[in-house]
Amino acid sequence: MKIPVWQTTMLPVITLVVICYFALHNTSSIKANDNIQILENCSNTNLSTHKLPGKLPCKNTSQKTIKSITTTSSSLLSFIYQKRFLTIVSENLQTLPQPESLEYILLRSYGAAYINRQPGIKLPEKIIFANEKETKEFQATLNMGKVNGTHNCYLQKPAADALNRARTQIKIPLMSRYGQINCTRSFSTTLRLWRKYANDRTLEKIRQGKETKILGIVAPPGSSQHLWGLAVDLRVTNQAQQKILNQNGWYRTVKNDTPHWTYIGHSPEELALLGFKNKVIRGVNYWLTPL
Ligand SMILES: [Zn+2]
Repeated sequence: MKIPVWQTTMLPVITLVVICYFALHNTSSIKANDNIQILENCSNTNLSTHKLPGKLPCKNTSQKTIKSITTTSSSLLSFIYQKRFLTIVSENLQTLPQPESLEYILLRSYGAAYINRQPGIKLPEKIIFANEKETKEFQATLNMGKVNGTHNCYLQKPAADALNRARTQIKIPLMSRYGQINCTRSFSTTLRLWRKYANDRTLEKIRQGKETKILGIVAPPGSSQHLWGLAVDLRVTNQAQQKILNQNGWYRTVKNDTPHWTYIGHSPEELALLGFKNKVIRGVNYWLTPL
């Protein structure tokens, strides 16, 4: 029987391609798994002791190896950072939200404060407070401190202390003159602000992933960092003010919400090591969660 010409010429080529594909595929998946294991080993010690890293403490792993992994596997690295961030968040939350649920979207936008490990700081066990009662129950557990020189601006005490320190170094006014509205808010205040800019249809669009801009203008009811006593709205107009706020653990963490500052209590170097994304948007510097 005569073998067709295409089989004699093409068959070896096809076989070779198939062998190469499987060889490469297996190698890269083994390498990816190894890299995940190495980077996870790097993070576990710190996470279990609540000491977030000043540098990655990787037993048996040279900094050169880590550097080569991190520079060659940026998507892998962002996966690791997301996983680490969720591990930290899970120490406070009753349940971790499912990816792309409303809670997950809100955690991405407002969850930066969950990495705060300053003594005396409390974080909520759920991302959205359902009503005033739940909000008040949480707020009743907080140790609050006053921001000096204000009428009634209160924050969790370590946050107020850090802001007071910054304000002794340079003038940093609140957005409004006396400013309770700029500091810790009640559920009803956040609801009133929400209704000024948005409604139930907006919330549905956020849920469907079709609307994100509004999150930089106003937080959906029950989800604002201002309910946690860890956010303040400030009038920051120059780099010197920003630098001093950062040095005292305060950062802009909500994209496009320029006056809004969150107390995180870490240095910029620590935020970078935790996978926080340092983005400059229209000339304004933000530190966004790894999600
Ligand atoms: Zn704010």
